[in-house]
Amino acid sequence: MVIKILTLFPQMFTGMLSESIIKRAIEDEKIDIDCIQIRDYASNKHKKVDDYPYGGGAGMVMTPQPLFDAHEYALDSLTNIKTEEKNKIRTIYMTPKGRVFNQDMAKELSKESSLIFICGHYEGVDQRVIETLVTDEISIGDYVLTGGEIPAMVVIDATVRLIPGVVSNEESIVDESHSNNLLEYPQYTRPQEFRGMEVPGILLSGHHKNIEEWRRNKSLEITKNRRPDLV
Ligand code: SAM
Repeated sequence: MVIKILTLFPQMFTGMLSESIIKRAIEDEKIDIDCIQIRDYASNKHKKVDDYPYGGGAGMVMTPQPLFDAHEYALDSLTNIKTEEKNKIRTIYMTPKGRVFNQDMAKELSKESSLIFICGHYEGVDQRVIETLVTDEISIGDYVLTGGEIPAMVVIDATVRLIPGVVSNEESIVDESHSNNLLEYPQYTRPQEFRGMEVPGILLSGHHKNIEEWRRNKSLEITKNRRPDLV
């Protein structure tokens, strides 16, 4: 999967791209992530990317010109896609007004060959950007952050780890929370006893059917208690 991120703060992605599973996925060429500095595409002398909102009100709005040009560059630089296919590429604008992200959306996005993300800042982007370039508006929850960079990282991380081969068997994604509308059962590792706290005996029994049943019951119990809306 090729991911292009339009952002005013590309350095925010440095940590994410240089650690752990995402780093390995890049090295293994399962994903290719490119941050595009929106400011580089501003055609005005001072590289200004925002302006006052028409109609008044607080804050600044990101102007359309740099975003349209950066998006055009992002599409042009998608060399893994035929030109005639480029109109099908999904462009995601991270916004608190969007559809709230969940595991099903991550599964759906993980099947795409390319994605473009737009990270807003200030009061957000000019509506003409959304109406012309954006296919999906996604929120990561009902709160407001300063910019779309952290939300884009959340969506990219959850999506990329579902691409086959990105997460190894040892880090299996099959049983985890939200994979089947259930929250995951409790996990234990060595030692068997720690500060007087024992691992549940059933997990040491070697009886796979009973262990599976215990885990399923625990999953149901936790889900009913914490997230009855999922059951
Ligand atoms: N004025 C906007 C509103 O009321 O909807 C909020 C703008 S916010 C301060 C700046 C940027 O942060 C947004 O353009 C968006 O890209 C990003 N952002 C903030 N909260 C977000 C959330 N919950 N989910 C996704 N993106 C978010």
